[in-house]
Amino acid sequence: PLLVSRGLVDADESGSGKKAYYVHVERPEHIQCQRMALPVYTEEQQIMEAITESPVVVLSGETGSGKTTQVPQFLFEAGYGDPSSPNPGLIGITQPRRVAAVSMAHRVAEELGNFGRTVAHQVRFDTTVSADTRVKFMTEGVLLRELATDLLLTKYSVIIADEAHERSLNTDILLGVLSRVVRLRQKLALESPDKHRPLKLVIMSATLRVDDFVRNSRLFRTPPPVLSVQARQHPVRVHFNRRTPAPGQHVHDAIQKAAKIHTRLPDGGILIFLTGQAEITYACKRLREMFSPNAGSAAPAQTPANGLVASVEDEDVDIGDVISESGELRDDYASDTDEGSDSEEEDEIIVGGDDGGDDSREARKTLLEENLRSTPGQAGDQGAAPPMPLHILPLYSMLPSDQQLRVFAPPPPGSRLCVVATNVAETSITIPGIRYVVDAGLVKEKTYDAQTQVQSFEVGWTSQASVNQRMGRAGRTGPGHCYRLFSSAVFNDQFAQFSEPEVLRMPIEGVVLQMKAMNLDNVANFPFPTPPRRDALSKAERLLTWLGALDDKGRATDLGRLMSVFPVAPRFAKMLIVGQQHGCLPYVVAIVAALSVGDPFVKEFHLGAADGSDSEGDGDGDKGRSFADQVASAEARAVSNEALAAKEQQRAKRRRFWAMQARLAGAEPTSDLLKWLAAVGAFEYAGGTDTACSEYFVRAKAMGEIRKLRGQLTNIVQMYCPGVDVAMDPRMPPPTKMQQSVLRQVVLSGFMDQVAVRGDIAGYHDPDEEEAQKRRGRRIVPYMTMWSDEPVYIHPESVVHIAARTSGTMPQAIVYSELQRTSRLWAKSVTATSPKWLATIGQPMCTFGSPLPYPLPKYNDA
Ligand code: ADP
Ligand code: MG
Repeated sequence: PLLVSRGLVDADESGSGKKAYYVHVERPEHIQCQRMALPVYTEEQQIMEAITESPVVVLSGETGSGKTTQVPQFLFEAGYGDPSSPNPGLIGITQPRRVAAVSMAHRVAEELGNFGRTVAHQVRFDTTVSADTRVKFMTEGVLLRELATDLLLTKYSVIIADEAHERSLNTDILLGVLSRVVRLRQKLALESPDKHRPLKLVIMSATLRVDDFVRNSRLFRTPPPVLSVQARQHPVRVHFNRRTPAPGQHVHDAIQKAAKIHTRLPDGGILIFLTGQAEITYACKRLREMFSPNAGSAAPAQTPANGLVASVEDEDVDIGDVISESGELRDDYASDTDEGSDSEEEDEIIVGGDDGGDDSREARKTLLEENLRSTPGQAGDQGAAPPMPLHILPLYSMLPSDQQLRVFAPPPPGSRLCVVATNVAETSITIPGIRYVVDAGLVKEKTYDAQTQVQSFEVGWTSQASVNQRMGRAGRTGPGHCYRLFSSAVFNDQFAQFSEPEVLRMPIEGVVLQMKAMNLDNVANFPFPTPPRRDALSKAERLLTWLGALDDKGRATDLGRLMSVFPVAPRFAKMLIVGQQHGCLPYVVAIVAALSVGDPFVKEFHLGAADGSDSEGDGDGDKGRSFADQVASAEARAVSNEALAAKEQQRAKRRRFWAMQARLAGAEPTSDLLKWLAAVGAFEYAGGTDTACSEYFVRAKAMGEIRKLRGQLTNIVQMYCPGVDVAMDPRMPPPTKMQQSVLRQVVLSGFMDQVAVRGDIAGYHDPDEEEAQKRRGRRIVPYMTMWSDEPVYIHPESVVHIAARTSGTMPQAIVYSELQRTSRLWAKSVTATSPKWLATIGQPMCTFGSPLPYPLPKYNDA
């Protein structure tokens, strides 16, 4: 038969005469072999037929079955994206996570051989899209933003919404909007087929609940066909702990479990699920000390007779070592001094093994043999000979992409792979060769209290569905083991069946604004897969009205439309626009970039253990202190004599840290955000190097992202507000006093609903509390927000608080960008504000029929 490189060929062998477009792809042989082993591969024809016949198709399949890497290629080979084919528009694939967008684009480029350069990715800080691009991996946010300017998505012929089961806020909105776009494009294609082509939508998900979007008549009038790919899943033996460790103990337990697996069990990769970068960095470091051959005197750890690996000497953590990223992650690395309880395994259950009796009996036998081989007392378990090297790799979303890709490469010969990951390894990324899963059962999730507007990252139990997904990771290449670091009772009683969709957990003003900017005015009737709570919706609309983004009929104003083009939260977009009107845009751009990325400073905690004498604390004892602080003081108590010198060094470092904070805050500190601004400017002025990072105690990664975002925001301003001069040396001269005052008002304009007035002015008075504070000899001043009767307090690390200690007066009113709850509600990233400003800038809130609940004070404007 004639080999066609591209063009129409017979669609099938039956001689039906049906023609189909075809692009011939030349792939490397090893790639082709790997593809053919994937369960999706044999389903190509069925999948493509469904896509041809139906505008929307749902494809569900076990993680690792090849959905993400193969379906885009099927489409590519069928001519999607090819300029001379009937479907010349791009193939777009959306991912909830940046990691996946980048690494999957890489992989598909590699697999597409001679067409590799047609694959690109686009994420917030990074894009490789070019004129050659046919296949585009992107985050959902990127596509949502494109929808705002091109609702018909004319550039695309097909959108694959991947990882739909994750139910991220953006997935939900996308599915809602896309369900309408698909209908519209269908209609247009019927009316004028020469001008329009239909848009195909493929929804891909792991084998989890898909009913929310399949059987949802508001979303799709007729339920789309659901194809499921059957992947071979080997049986996995689940081991529960008999006891559930105390909070914070899980990192230690996970390390010990991995060590035990490595020293006692046969070949096979280990995958550890922890909750965030700080934990992962810490665990990797500890494991390297134990098992990496060049890790100095601490390695390899001796294995005592009981088979447990002894804890490594406690060690101080350097700046930059265990660092929380983008301010999102809590300082949550665990102390490693306690004895583990991980040998107490409970019941063992074999799960999976979908292919019936024989196979799983076979697997049981293998497992049994393994267990026999690894029973204590057998050869290889004496702890004498150190085991083979452990190839330890971290995996989390903020990791640079070249490092993320390392998990796919086979480990060096003679070593065992051990990946320590967040739940990005749960479904988005399949790591080859994993046989053992160690699961802490926890997840770090952004949570949001609609009532108090308190937003925080919280570590909590994940869901049963996700724990089972994690377990499945061990059964891809052969029978495996899954070690759960919690008891089956906890699993049954305390784990939700499924994770709650994000739309129920997050503030939604950003998406509401996006929707309004797309003229989807009736948000309440929007076909959400799961509708948001009514009160969350009205809160969002109210805030947007205050910000001036919506008019009194709830439609986007010109201001709102302009705000929606900035890839930042609506509050920040408002600040940018107000800043532009007041001629201090470059500064506002820097502040907004820092606010979007998160607190750029190294956490004081990471400077070393606090010893109480120079730490502020909140004076409420351990109960009210953050987990990290408690760990720190526990470590400080446990410190041995030899370590005292090191402690002194740390103390010196902490003093330098605070001196620098004071310097950056300026002579009359009025705002943490101005301190951030000073840090950004000083850092760039010092050349933006690693040395500058340690001099100013800022995190390199955060600074890099802030720099990129500043560039992006500046470009957008130049594009949408022609004639506005935003070009300024990134090293920014420090703002003048006048400019500082303007900047504080700009901050207020974005956070006018996050104002707190000093308790005495707002008429708040708590005699008991005042008495208690007097006894303790320290006084912290309550502030009242407009949202509740509960007082908030300025966080002790805020420059506003620190300045007040010297001046003796607390500002009459403050703006906060975040509230954090420990024993009290702490206002963080605080800016002192003036009641006079409140009256003018806060005006929209009054006209909205919800006047400030406290009397505006008579003031002497200072
Ligand atoms: P699914 O989307 O169904 O979960 P994927 O398409 O992501 O499955 O993965 C299919 C296979 O491709 C997996 O076995 C995975 O390990 C492999 N794979 C994915 N990315 C890479 C890569 N960069 N290098 C090597 N193998 C990869
Ligand atoms: Mg996938």
